[in-house]
Amino acid sequence: MSKKIAILPGDGIGPEIIAEAVKVLTFLRREHALALELEQATVGGSAYDEHGTTLPESTLALAREADSVLLGAVGGPKWDSLEPALRPEKALLRLRSELELFANLRPAVLFPQLADASTLKADVVSGLDIMFVRELTGGIYFGEPRGVRTRPGGEREAYNTLVYSEPEIKRIAHCAFAIARKRHAKVCSVDKANVLEVSVLWREVVTDVGAQYNDVALTHMYVDNAAMQLVRAPKQFDVIVTTNMFGDILSDTAAMLTGSIGMLPSASLDRASKGLYEPIHGAAPDIAGRGIANPLAAILSVAMLLRYSLGEPDIAVRVEQAISSVLDAGLRTADIFTGKGQKVGTREMGDAVIDALSQR
Ligand code: NAD
Repeated sequence: MSKKIAILPGDGIGPEIIAEAVKVLTFLRREHALALELEQATVGGSAYDEHGTTLPESTLALAREADSVLLGAVGGPKWDSLEPALRPEKALLRLRSELELFANLRPAVLFPQLADASTLKADVVSGLDIMFVRELTGGIYFGEPRGVRTRPGGEREAYNTLVYSEPEIKRIAHCAFAIARKRHAKVCSVDKANVLEVSVLWREVVTDVGAQYNDVALTHMYVDNAAMQLVRAPKQFDVIVTTNMFGDILSDTAAMLTGSIGMLPSASLDRASKGLYEPIHGAAPDIAGRGIANPLAAILSVAMLLRYSLGEPDIAVRVEQAISSVLDAGLRTADIFTGKGQKVGTREMGDAVIDALSQR
């Protein structure tokens, strides 16, 4: 039976980079006779302009019905003055929660060819390959009660609730161990168990789940140390599993070690491995429409889609190798151009990836 992929290009550079990702997916569908149906819909500011809402019901219905979703990015100055509930970014949050995408996978991979684009020394980051598994639908970002209240003396105070249940911790832990099995069999669980009760439970439950994966080595690290280790010796990590907020902060730190935001994909998965795949960058309104955006994060998102939702790890590796050989050949979009090699635009980069795939 054919699988349906919802294509949501979004705003800004979203349509430009997703066009290249779709070109690659269409090429692979033909080459490998993949039974895939692609259907496009609007999301974000462009959906607001057309339908008066950033997540039209028809888009949500398509995303629900589809086996997975490939998304570009949303947002831009045109919609910044909308009230918060109507902002394009809210469409993404709603999509993630409606689809129950609780596991956010964010690889921080440095292609060795780009080691000189990182802010850290090349020998510290060369070969970096970390997979963050961040809990995405629980923790302090969603905990109740939350709010701002006025104390009897008249001053205001604000509060949020950090809460995790055993089932929530278990499912993200299983996800991390299963992924580690397909990588280098190491999981580091990051918490703050010296201070927070939630972290004590987190550590206990992750340890219990880990006992079912004897082939995976489990370590625990406090979040402050993890932040330090990520910039001191990031290559010690394989899979890092952590809570929503710690993962948000640490994965952005790690992303920056790799040099360019234009190279990093992500996946958000549900229990059945249905996923929303998207680059980690935003709509980049400053360069939208100029044909210079880096499409590689979007193309790497296609590789993640193949690996995690379509069960095609070998084809995913082909995509990653094709990108590597394009970088070997010296092709660089503006964001990763350091003076050497050949500067190319969005479309040329997409075409080069397809050329490299054709030659393999
Ligand atoms: P951004 O990621 O869009 O851009 C940050 C910088 O990185 C910009 O200078 C941009 O030109 C550059 N950049 C980003 N992607 C690039 C690519 N593929 N190739 C080359 N350069 C690239 O972040 P921002 O400027 O803070 O946000 C712009 C808009 O995007 C805002 O409306 C924001 O809310 C939204 N946003 C959306 C998402 C998402 O859709 N997931 C994520 C972050 C920000």
